[in-house]
Amino acid sequence: MRWILGDQLGPHFTDDLQPGDRVLMVESRRMFARRRYHRAKAHLILSAMRHRAADLGDLCVIVQSDSFAPALAEHRPTEVIDPTSHQARRFVREQPGLAVLPSRGFATESALFDQWSSGRGGRRLLMEDWYRLVRTTLGVLVNGDAPEGGEWNFDKENRLPPPKGQRTLGVHAPWHPVEDAIDAQVREDLDAWAASGEVSFIGDDNPRAFAATRSEALEVLADFVEHRLVSFGPYEDAMLAEDWSMAHSLLSPALNLGLLHPMEVVDACVAAYRRGEAPLQSVEGMVRQVLGWREYVWHLYWQSQPDEIPNALRAEVDLPEWFADLQDGQVTAACLSSALREVRERGWSHHIVRLMVLGNWALQRGYEPRQMVDWFGRAFVDGYPWVMTANVLGMSLYADGGRMATKPYASGGAYINRMSDHCKGCAYRPDRRVGPEACPFTAGYWWFLDQHREDLRGNHRMAQPLAGLGRLADRDLLISQEDARGSRAP
Ligand code: SF4
Repeated sequence: MRWILGDQLGPHFTDDLQPGDRVLMVESRRMFARRRYHRAKAHLILSAMRHRAADLGDLCVIVQSDSFAPALAEHRPTEVIDPTSHQARRFVREQPGLAVLPSRGFATESALFDQWSSGRGGRRLLMEDWYRLVRTTLGVLVNGDAPEGGEWNFDKENRLPPPKGQRTLGVHAPWHPVEDAIDAQVREDLDAWAASGEVSFIGDDNPRAFAATRSEALEVLADFVEHRLVSFGPYEDAMLAEDWSMAHSLLSPALNLGLLHPMEVVDACVAAYRRGEAPLQSVEGMVRQVLGWREYVWHLYWQSQPDEIPNALRAEVDLPEWFADLQDGQVTAACLSSALREVRERGWSHHIVRLMVLGNWALQRGYEPRQMVDWFGRAFVDGYPWVMTANVLGMSLYADGGRMATKPYASGGAYINRMSDHCKGCAYRPDRRVGPEACPFTAGYWWFLDQHREDLRGNHRMAQPLAGLGRLADRDLLISQEDARGSRAP
């Protein structure tokens, strides 16, 4: 009997079972009771598990239990595929008689990453270098050792602001699931858990927005490749207040539930390029997300120590309630309010909203890294420890002291103004740093630099901004203005 976990739900986790083998799934209520998850996340995971159990039919036993231990004691599974978190790996290894099979669901072996990272000789573990190695090793968009189209990356063409005067990107609306009886039962169960006081959630209980089954995941992939991939590349960094999905694939929840293998996504996108149906800049941008970033943060996670969360910038501010509980109505800053609203409504926002609005704000304001990793893991439907650890600590918060990123991703309102339509309708002005109309991101950027000028002094990419800080005529006024802001919602 193989114990299948809630993020091992695709065929590649069961396709080697032999006749007579069976599958065990365990829904642990305690898992949801321990921390406050987004309601949509609990719904998606339980829906996906129950749909998988229904697909497997008699082959599968699904147990609803307070915790894993009694279900394992009763059913005595003999094997499990290695889980995706330090904590779960420890737990499965403590179970008597349970064999642990190598992990699945990624395109590259840990040996490749370990060999690459140990051969860097102290140089930064640049994602770009890893990505090129993966493309070459797997033969994706390469001709021999040369990249397809002569360039490894099309980032320059893939940073367009949203089209002027448009309130939405105007691409085909994303695929949307139709809920069924299994979803209705999940909703009823979650209502009962919440009513009993055992479990409490953040976020709204909206209709499910992401794939929970293999066939739904294949539909999302096909829909993305056919209708949205063309626009994905150029506008992948753009934000519009009335367009939550832009041309993003919405595949990360399905990938992280294990419903799709990353190579299925890569192959489908590359095939569209070969057929002349999608431009190289979009296809390369998508391949970079899946084979570059996703594989990179997966392997980096295993190089982190289970209980050690770095905090290079000594960020110690507790997440304020309005942020942690997604109270977008408390927030005047249009960009931040919109980001929190997107997460409240669906447990999802796209990568630039995460990095340049939510992450940027948390970095500037010194939110404690451990709490931020936890929050991203609870509030996002695709958040898991392996995804969030490197992304949040390394990319968003610079908590690793620059192991991943060459400089902190702090930026003022000018970036958000260029890449979105938020500033037009905002009570603040992106070019003001002091006074009642001061943009909290612009002021926060200079405040952050001032707070960390000693930490950043040796970083040559920060020399110019630090010199700019020194020239600010209203620096003292700005510092006292932002000191006074504290943890209040901007
Ligand atoms: Fe955000 Fe500042 Fe623009 Fe308002 S002015 S939307 S706070 S960047």
